[in-house]
Amino acid sequence: MLCEAMCGLAVTVQDGKATRIEGDRADPFSRGHVCPKAVALEDIRLDPDRVREPCVRGPGVDDGWRAVDWPGALDAAAGSLASVVKAHGRDAVAVYLGNPMAHNGQALLGAGVLLGVLRTKMRFSATSADQLPHMLVALEMFGHQALISVPDVDRSQFFLCIGANPLVSNGSIMTAPGIERRLKDLRARGGRLVVVDPRRTETARMADEHHFIRPGTDALLLLAMVRTLFEEKRVSLGRLGVSTRGLAELESAAAPFSPERVADHTGIPADVTRRLARELAAASSGVVYGRVGVCQQEFGGLAAWLVVVVNALTGNLDRAGGAMFTTPAVDLVRLGALLGQRGTFGRYHSPVRGLPEFGGELPVACLAEEIEAGNIRALVTIAGNPVASVPNGTRLAGALGKLDAMVSLDIYRNETTRHARVLLPTSFGLEREHFDLLLQAVAVRNVTRWSPALFEPPPGVRDDWAILTDLACAVASRLPGAHLASVAARAARALGAARVFDAALRAGPHRLSVRQLKQHPHGMDLGPLEPRLPANLHTSDRRIHLAPPRFLADLPRLSASMDASPREVGLLLVGRRHLRSNNSWMHNSQRLVKGREACTLLMHPTDATARGLATGTSVRLRSRVGEVTVPLEVSDEIAPGVVSLPHGWGHARQGVELRVARERAGASINDVTDEARVDALSGNAAFSGTPVVVERV
Ligand code: SF4
Repeated sequence: MLCEAMCGLAVTVQDGKATRIEGDRADPFSRGHVCPKAVALEDIRLDPDRVREPCVRGPGVDDGWRAVDWPGALDAAAGSLASVVKAHGRDAVAVYLGNPMAHNGQALLGAGVLLGVLRTKMRFSATSADQLPHMLVALEMFGHQALISVPDVDRSQFFLCIGANPLVSNGSIMTAPGIERRLKDLRARGGRLVVVDPRRTETARMADEHHFIRPGTDALLLLAMVRTLFEEKRVSLGRLGVSTRGLAELESAAAPFSPERVADHTGIPADVTRRLARELAAASSGVVYGRVGVCQQEFGGLAAWLVVVVNALTGNLDRAGGAMFTTPAVDLVRLGALLGQRGTFGRYHSPVRGLPEFGGELPVACLAEEIEAGNIRALVTIAGNPVASVPNGTRLAGALGKLDAMVSLDIYRNETTRHARVLLPTSFGLEREHFDLLLQAVAVRNVTRWSPALFEPPPGVRDDWAILTDLACAVASRLPGAHLASVAARAARALGAARVFDAALRAGPHRLSVRQLKQHPHGMDLGPLEPRLPANLHTSDRRIHLAPPRFLADLPRLSASMDASPREVGLLLVGRRHLRSNNSWMHNSQRLVKGREACTLLMHPTDATARGLATGTSVRLRSRVGEVTVPLEVSDEIAPGVVSLPHGWGHARQGVELRVARERAGASINDVTDEARVDALSGNAAFSGTPVVVERV
């Protein structure tokens, strides 16, 4: 419930406390795997800084927080949102959904109820700072934004990992608890693990091969691999050949991108690129897996597309050991299709910059400018900390101060929720029943599990479902013409999240129920991934679109990026994460943040020597939008010309009530990343490859 790995936990409870949290060895999927963050669940539940009663702030911006009862809090929240709708229209209220929503099924459902009442186009989420390119690829190639392929890592013989560090992320859009063991098993059975990344990551250290790549050039590498496959007649679509279209267009699109031409830009020698293409094509099974480094860059859409293309051209799409599709207990793809919701792109655009809508959301990189322009007057955040998570957090923090109303559902007063006027505290972790609605859909096996709540939430705290449906009802009752929405919200509230899950499970491919899941407390293994194409395609012609026009049209932009000499570009910033950290919100656990300073700027020795810098030097990291001061760590684990700062830090802002985190505040990488840098194709934020200057303080 903390990250995407979906580990089963065995929790010992004594006197109302979890005295022991360990991996559940009887869980057929995670088989006892656990990471340090799970143990910190109890730290956060019992954290004295946790918000334990609803509170309001104002009317003045400098007024402190006042505790109120739930009716008073909901009245204040709904009243302020309804006032903004009446005065400025529905789109003047924005909603931001944070990353933890992906791990909280009932919050997802509840947010849907609230959004059904608000009916605003100003919807934002962590998606456009993360995996949006993968979803756009799914929509364009397979006809459904949720039809995302995952590596069948347990049967793969060749694993090419680009811009991903599964040993630390624990797998991302690849729910695979114990990924280290799975990758070790891959190598033990004679398979090969190759990592391409600007940093020699934890995953790279256990790989057969690692290659540094210049940030933002993954699409060039993959295009050169595509060209090699065509040139050397190694393209083999396998059984999906008859269900595929666009092969000829793809071949001509890749023709200009020879391995030799792109080598100077990627930093990867042409012979290595050719060899990787050959090895992947020759492997009995293999997969290219790309994650945040592939998505969070100026060519994220192209790079994510080409990951799937290479898998398809080598016959590895939808075959055992390749890139497959989960058959989850709740089939969101099928449910979405039945409801006519396969995904949307570009139906409307953000008013200020004209960035495209995706799946009913606008890119989060434009949130601040829409507030500044007066297009957004009120904001609801749910389990989100966009000041820490979106590019140019400083600008966003300034914009939040200009809102007429802000309502936050959270467990903390953090960098974002400190701006709220109404703060509604939610239950956390072991205090609520849990069903992984989203992550089971990208698991490397077909699995499912229902986790019971082990503790009552504190008296002043409520479940997300109750808060969101109550808030939806309260807003609807204040809006003229919202009678139907009001009825629907009340019906949802009465129904309860568990019944919705139950109905979805019964309609799913495995015909399960909540009751059955409860009878299997260690989780249910529903078998290995199985081929799902072409039957599960949702394109208009029921074929895989290898060369969607949208992607082909973006190639000239990629080509133009090669005009600049790589040597003239200067230092490029990339992020990183640590195993003991989960984005921005677990730094108030002493056991997770203790020890060596985590928030350091990694720099290659060549670059450090050229600037007269050494490990421990306090340096100023500066970009177009801002600067932070951080300690330097000189290391050859980072590529020359690249520097790396972990994300999620920067807790020293005024009003942040996280005592442990404030003591080890670090600096926020997103005070340096640039909201003007987006992938022009998808609108996804381009954190990776931000040009920066580093100098001694
Ligand atoms: S890997 Fe993820 S799911 Fe597993 S214990 Fe750690 S935080 Fe929890």
